[in-house]
Amino acid sequence: MMIEMKIPFVDLNAQYQNIKPEIDAAIQSVLDNTSFILGATVNSFEQAFAKFCGTKHVIGVNSGTDALTLVLNAMGIGAGDEVITVPNTFIATTEAITRNGAIPVFVDIDSKTFNIDVTKIETAITPKTKAILPVHLYGQMADMKKISEIAKKHNLRVLEDACQAHGAKDNDVSPGVLSDAACYSFYPGKNLGAYGDAGCVATNSDELAEEIRKLRNHGRDEKHIHAEEGFNSRMDALQAAILLEKLKHLNDWIEKRRENVRFYNKLLDETLATPLEKDGKKHVYHLYVIRTRKRDLLQKLLKESDISCGIHYPLPLHLQPAYKYMNLKKGDFPETEKAADEILSLPIYPELEKEKIKYVCEKIKSVLNFE
Ligand SMILES: *Cc1c(COP(=O)(O)O)cnc(C)c1O
Repeated sequence: MMIEMKIPFVDLNAQYQNIKPEIDAAIQSVLDNTSFILGATVNSFEQAFAKFCGTKHVIGVNSGTDALTLVLNAMGIGAGDEVITVPNTFIATTEAITRNGAIPVFVDIDSKTFNIDVTKIETAITPKTKAILPVHLYGQMADMKKISEIAKKHNLRVLEDACQAHGAKDNDVSPGVLSDAACYSFYPGKNLGAYGDAGCVATNSDELAEEIRKLRNHGRDEKHIHAEEGFNSRMDALQAAILLEKLKHLNDWIEKRRENVRFYNKLLDETLATPLEKDGKKHVYHLYVIRTRKRDLLQKLLKESDISCGIHYPLPLHLQPAYKYMNLKKGDFPETEKAADEILSLPIYPELEKEKIKYVCEKIKSVLNFE
């Protein structure tokens, strides 16, 4: 008989307990110097993360959503402009487009990687297209070489949604290098997570960096001079202090995720479709997503065994009530829709023990083999 155990989808407390003294000291130092917004701590984090990303600039902001919104704004993308992206992402990706008055144009995904199908991008380009916004879903980068070639040919900007892809590589190149900019989220559950909301932009462009620094801080040039109207989207020093400490562990955590993936794959490869890591890519497995036609049954029975899973994402954006006005329908993006019915994200956090992975896999096999 198997022992029963409860397995959460993520365990932020386990991570905190492992680094509690450093985190507590970092928080205390911000409380002691009372410089709570931007300032030296945020600068230090920006520099450290820029080094990690291999980009010239990192600009810390309030959230991943704001990072995406500010970049499109800084690019001058607005009313009537079209931005190409995918329908299988978190709504923040398209909110950043519509909040600037622009129009999301969806392209279906590649069924193996769940990322944008680069062979379908060119047919979506119109005279109104201004940018391509690929999403590095689950932690594996889209085909940036191909995307940047298409963008050059059609004179388009490229913005990478790297909110799930801290540390990911495409042939040794990080997000933000083959494009105008990449945006990251430090939402607590992300691979590098703050203790609240935070995000950033990574870019090699001096012009974009300067404009985003202004936009995040009310369009300020200096304290009381506003070159333009901006936003209040500054990073907190408390979040920056926590992120600086956690950044030291990020590569190790990514390696632990990848170790867990190898263990899962070994146990599950013969039972169902495990994730494909394409040649030349470094997948950082923010999410470990399996695929089976018996997904609903599997999720239900795992839940009954106290194993928490997720679906990322169950209802594609083109079918969301918020986008009813786009008049898109079921059947418009078949690979996305098919994936939405078959995907299941299993627990993959770095602290997850091997015996728990074994337990999850045994449960999965007992369900699928029984049916
Ligand atoms: C988390 C996420 C965002 C939004 O980031 P926030 O920091 O929560 O605003 C955007 N895009 C993707 C793909 C995400 O996973």
